[in-house]
Parts: sequence; structure tokens; C-alpha cells
Amino acid sequence: MKLSVVIPVFNEEAVIETTHRRLLSLTDEMTREKVIDDYEIIYVDDGSMDGSLDILKGFSAKSPKIKVLSFSRNFGHQPALAAGILHAAGDAVVSLDADLQDPPELIGEMIREYKSGHDIVYAVRRERTGDSFFKRWTARLFYKIMQLMGVDIVYDHADYRMISRRVVEEFGRIKEYNLFLRGIFPFMGFRQALVYYEREKRHAGETKYPLKKMAAFAWQGITSFSSVPLKMASVIGFTIFSGSIVLIAWAFYTKIQGEAVPGWTSTVIPMFFIGGLNILFLGLIGEYIGKMYLEVKRRPLFIIKERYNIKD
Ligand code: UDP
Ligand code: MG
Repeated sequence: MKLSVVIPVFNEEAVIETTHRRLLSLTDEMTREKVIDDYEIIYVDDGSMDGSLDILKGFSAKSPKIKVLSFSRNFGHQPALAAGILHAAGDAVVSLDADLQDPPELIGEMIREYKSGHDIVYAVRRERTGDSFFKRWTARLFYKIMQLMGVDIVYDHADYRMISRRVVEEFGRIKEYNLFLRGIFPFMGFRQALVYYEREKRHAGETKYPLKKMAAFAWQGITSFSSVPLKMASVIGFTIFSGSIVLIAWAFYTKIQGEAVPGWTSTVIPMFFIGGLNILFLGLIGEYIGKMYLEVKRRPLFIIKERYNIKD
């Protein structure tokens, strides 16, 4: 079998050489032990501003098995993964981060699961000791909210996974601009398996996922896979509408009884409340319409500027 390794790279000059060395020793060992017959490593440079691309070009000059795609700008982690997967030629394609938080040595175990007939193998973090308290806490919150919103994702699995050739082919048919891979793969079905690992500390360099990007990512996950927020809008809207009918009935009743003291508060509070809710849920609906707008335009998910050792 041929193995494809896909690695998104965004400003990783501090770590990429170490990662590459560790990967090469692993793939060479696996080739020697006949676990795999052939391999390729596809680095997707996601518009790095540092020396990453030059380092990657250096790798590709040494071996035709090392391939590089370079984006015209920073498109993001998910488009970078998608580009790598779509260009992979292997029977199995594994994606992992450039910073060695996903130990490459786990690939052997993933291949075993693949060979025993699983089409999608998720690497799941056993412990998150390598992450800060804050990162662990926000990550947990993320999975809880996703569950509440009815989005089917694998708990504590990031984007370290192996997929088979036929999953790659099916993946090629998914044309979504708002891409959330952690939701896509559970959705695709086939036989799926989990393998466990300890999440290590980032080997060098800094996280490319500050809080703002993480929050945007979580929001992407929810709004790309769940219409629960829209349903919430209609449920709350209906509740408030029913409540106001009761209030109207009560107002009429007091009027008929001749007890009506025109109250300022009772006029103004519902006005604010309903007005506020209106704007809130209009905004929510706008979010989804915005997404539809992006999908309808069918804009490319990424634009490749340079390629090394790899054809279209
Ligand atoms: N990454 C990317 N584009 C981005 C942000 C990140 O290709 O816009 C890559 C990054 O180089 C790394 C992986 O995605 O290989 C995960 O990023 P990082 O390790 O910074 O995220 P964290 O582990 O802190 O969540
Ligand atoms: Mg990381």
C-alpha cells in the first residue's frame, strides 16, 4: 500500500525541520518493515510569511516523494487540509499538524486499523496534559456545545486522522465553502475506528489558533452543521408570541373591569424585550443567509500559487 501524509504549514519554520526528520525516519522504517510499499509527504504551505516555504522547497528538492503545495495567501487550516487530501495519491491518507503535537509514531497503529478494514481512523487524545488549562477548558466547552447543537463529532479528536482511498474519492464530491472537516467525516459513514494517544506540547513556535480563531472555528462548526440556533429562534419567538396574547387578553379584561391605569413600564418593557429579540434573531438568520451566499457563489476553497513535485 501507498501512504500519503498531509501536513498543513502556517509559519512553522521553528519546528518543521524536526517534524520532517521524525516523519522520514518513521516512513523509512515502515518501508523497511514492509508495513507500507511506498509513501509521499504533502506539505501544504498556507501562505506562510516566514521561511517555511523555502525550507519545504529544500525538502522537495531532495526527494520526489516530498511534495509541496503553496497557497496564494493564508486560507486557513481546513482548506489546507482539504487541498492536501484532494492531491493525495495514496491508498490511505493521514493528516497531522506540523508542530509534533500529534505524534507521527501513531501512524503505524492507524495503518493496522486501516488494514483491518476501517475506512476512517480517528486519533483521539487520551490526556491533554500538553495543553494549557485554558485550552483544555475551552476545548471541553466546544465539544459540549457541539453536542447540544446536535452536531456529530468525535470527542477530543482534532484533525489527526487516516482515511482510505474511497473516502478521499467521496470527499472530492463534497463541495462546501464553509468546511468543517470534523463534522464531514463522521457524516460520511463507512467503517470508522478510534486510536488513542497522549497529546504532546507544541514542539516549537507558537499556536496559530488564538482565541479569536478558535471561537470562529467553533461558530463555523455549529452553523455549518446545525440549524438548532434557527430552531431556537422560532421556539423562543413562538413562546413570546403566546405570552403576548395572554397579556393582551389581560389588558382587555382590566379595561372592561374599568381598572386600567395606563402604565408606562408595561408598555416600554415588552417593546424593548421584543425589539431586542427581533434584532438578535434577525442577526442569527442573517448568519445562515450569509453562509448560503458564500456557498451559492461556489468560490474556490483555496488557490494554489506554486507546486513542487506534484501535478494538478
Ligand atoms: N495552520 C494552518 N493555517 C492556519 C492556522 C494553522 O495551516 O491558518 C496549521 C499549523 O501550521 C499547524 C496546524 O494547522 O500545522 C494546527 O495549528 P496549531 O498547532 O497552531 O493549533 P493548536 O494546536 O494550537 O490548536
Ligand atoms: Mg498545535
